[in-house]
Amino acid sequence: MKILVTGGAGYIGSVTVEQLVHTGAEVVVFDNLSLGHRAAVHPDATLVVGDLADRAAIDDVLATTKPDAVMHFAARSQVGESMREPFRYIGDNVTCGLNLIESMVEHGIGRFILSSTAALFGEPQTIPIDENERIVPGSPYGESKHMLERILAWTDKVHGMRYAALRYFNAAGASEQRGEHHDPETHLIPLVLQVAQGKREAITVFGDDYPTRDGTCIRDYIHIIDLAQAHILALGALDEGSRVYNLGNGEGFSVMEVIETARTVTGHPIPHTMGERRPGDPAALTADSRKIRAELQWTPRFPKLHDIVDSAWRWHQAFPSGYPE
Ligand code: UDP
Repeated sequence: MKILVTGGAGYIGSVTVEQLVHTGAEVVVFDNLSLGHRAAVHPDATLVVGDLADRAAIDDVLATTKPDAVMHFAARSQVGESMREPFRYIGDNVTCGLNLIESMVEHGIGRFILSSTAALFGEPQTIPIDENERIVPGSPYGESKHMLERILAWTDKVHGMRYAALRYFNAAGASEQRGEHHDPETHLIPLVLQVAQGKREAITVFGDDYPTRDGTCIRDYIHIIDLAQAHILALGALDEGSRVYNLGNGEGFSVMEVIETARTVTGHPIPHTMGERRPGDPAALTADSRKIRAELQWTPRFPKLHDIVDSAWRWHQAFPSGYPE
């Protein structure tokens, strides 16, 4: 099986590439390296440096590599940034995704896995959130992924492309060799660990007046390897039809609980200060993942927040400066 992975040099993409390689798949990574890292790409995968905004470059990589399926991770992915730059988020994510999907149709490639998001749900009506929750994105980022899900639904109807949209809750943790390295970093767990590493004085908590048990936002953190496994299972199931899944552990942790867990894992006091709310942040997002558990027998291997943070901490200690550029 040959799989093209867009964004395979990024955080979730690179760990999925690693796990795909372990299954014996042939992997081609297509990444413009604007946010990803060359060193994150597994050495057994082929890296093609190219941009999804460049339709000719996509046509070229599909024509020359002829993959059986595409996993599409490449995207702008920050809720907060998308509230400041809505057109860039919707423009880039939708245009690049559409370029890819159109080119795949032209090249007769009919298997697609989309990195979708819990940000589709804004302020959900029911928690934990299952696949029947109404979709009202809370940010332009979430909206861009919703548009891609809709484009895929039509591409299935009109062209028979089979797809799975995997709505990730909060991807976190690391494998032995691959972890989270963004520049600048905006995500909670790596920022907290940077405090433990002495790279930052303190972590700012974005709001403590949410309607949650301690006033800070609740999220469902899912280990990156469990997330990667879900992609592999979803790909294997596409012959039976397209599908969407919400992917999380089902248990929510507040920002303060994440910081407390990191204190236990690292032995560092991790000072925190209270700050303003971050625009676009819903109070609580936790997943009801019973559908993927039942249909694909997906079972998280690392459901405990402690183990997730511990894996990230081990990676940060092994690679204190992240990936070399
Ligand atoms: N958060 C925070 N301080 C930070 C970064 C994040 O309090 O410096 C909070 C953020 O408001 C959210 C949670 O931590 O409630 C997780 O944020 P992250 O950016 O990691 O992921 P997101 O939920 O946006 O996908």
